[in-house]
Amino acid sequence: MRRAPLAALLLTPLVGLACTGSAPAGAREGVAAPSPAVSNTSLAPSAQAPGAAATCSGQPTPAETEGPYFKAGSPERTSLVDSGIPGTRVVVSGRVLTMDCRQLAGVVLDFWQADASGVYDNAGYRLRGHLTTDGDGRYSLQTIVPGEYPGRTQHIHVKVEAPGKPVLTTQLYFPGSARNQQDSLFNPALLLQVVDAQGGKAATFDFVLNFR
Ligand code: FE
Repeated sequence: MRRAPLAALLLTPLVGLACTGSAPAGAREGVAAPSPAVSNTSLAPSAQAPGAAATCSGQPTPAETEGPYFKAGSPERTSLVDSGIPGTRVVVSGRVLTMDCRQLAGVVLDFWQADASGVYDNAGYRLRGHLTTDGDGRYSLQTIVPGEYPGRTQHIHVKVEAPGKPVLTTQLYFPGSARNQQDSLFNPALLLQVVDAQGGKAATFDFVLNFR
């Protein structure tokens, strides 16, 4: 099994912007939306633009519902692991790309998630934070594996905001979670790739934004 030191996966924090949005009060997440169609579309890479630094699927990352627990104004940080917080440590990292596989610097990723018991902090900013992709379009976030809560499998919410472009709001899922198949929002196109790492897990996901 591949093991990578968590410290090697961390990137230097960069200046970022806060996302905006609203959290409708009292809404239930994950109970109203129909299941997104599971696509078996080929993931053949599209033609790369001149100067493209990496390959990618070329398939835009699917959007998902924001849910009721987004809160604007999260702190800028690359670690959501506050002192003493319980849960399995995981470093989530990857790239933000265009459909022609250009790696995008300066993209703000705003994450929010439940704690290991499936509870969101709606009063403060525990397990909420945003960061910005570096010059190679890479990001890295230290956090914990979220817990399940009623109606939902394990997931991490994120808004991906490239300057001057529409915000992509979506969710990331964990392979092998027992409840994935019972969650109407689960989409296998949004599965993290997860391996064991020193002190926890290392997970990767490349976001592909819907423009070239
Ligand atoms: Fe949620």
